[in-house]
Amino acid sequence: MAGILFIISAPSGSGKSTLVNQLRSLVEGLDFSISYTTRAPRGSEENGREYHFITREEFEGMIAAGDFLEWAEVFGKDYYGTAVAALDHAKQAGKDLLLDIDVQGGAQVMKKLPHAVSIFVLPPSPEILEGRLRRRSEAEEAASKIPITEETIQKRLAVAKNELKRIWDYKYALVNNVLDQAVIELRAIVLSERGVRDGVQSIASSCRTDSASSKLRAALSAFQN
Ligand code: ADP
Ligand code: 5GP
Repeated sequence: MAGILFIISAPSGSGKSTLVNQLRSLVEGLDFSISYTTRAPRGSEENGREYHFITREEFEGMIAAGDFLEWAEVFGKDYYGTAVAALDHAKQAGKDLLLDIDVQGGAQVMKKLPHAVSIFVLPPSPEILEGRLRRRSEAEEAASKIPITEETIQKRLAVAKNELKRIWDYKYALVNNVLDQAVIELRAIVLSERGVRDGVQSIASSCRTDSASSKLRAALSAFQN
């Protein structure tokens, strides 16, 4: 395997985790980098599976030690970072690596490793994003016992609109409307980047940001209203 680095970014609530979980069950040879974070585990999340959950002191120690390929403070609240070790790990295992990181982290990795294949996931409209954010907040509330306020939801929507401005920095964009279709597209992008030709090439091409499909333009214009 070529050791391709995939970056996938999306505004919170777009459905990226859902998509990535499905992709992992469909595609072989893809390592998933388990990020470090200072946020609390949510729902059924387990330490070392979805994230390495660490304290702010531990995170700051890792920054000082140069352990991160990239890191960011997401929503101005919690630290999230990708360990340099994740790259070495995937390389040694002969696998491709998928980084699920926010747009700040995506920009850092694209700068350091310009050969990385970047994919942006967006929801079809702000109304649909709001619905998904509210549903996800229920799981967050249940996990942390801290109520997710209306202000938090509105802040996340505003952050999403801002993050969408970075979409053109990404090679591919996919609109997560019907989940199964988005999964087909994500799989096609990965396989097409691996050099598979049959059946995936045209799907992947239609997701390139430089082809600006009508689906992509419709979603972006919904966010501009
Ligand atoms: P993210 O990782 O981008 O923050 P999640 O994967 O946690 O988002 O999804 C947010 C919510 O939206 C979850 O409740 C999830 O089940 C739901 N969801 C994800 N994709 C879709 C989709 N295509 N259609 C409907 N609901 C979806
Ligand atoms: P969540 O708390 O919903 O799991 O993630 C919040 C945001 O942090 C998402 O946009 C997710 O992609 C991003 N994120 C997760 N891990 C990392 C990481 O290692 N680095 C950066 N920069 N962002 C991350």
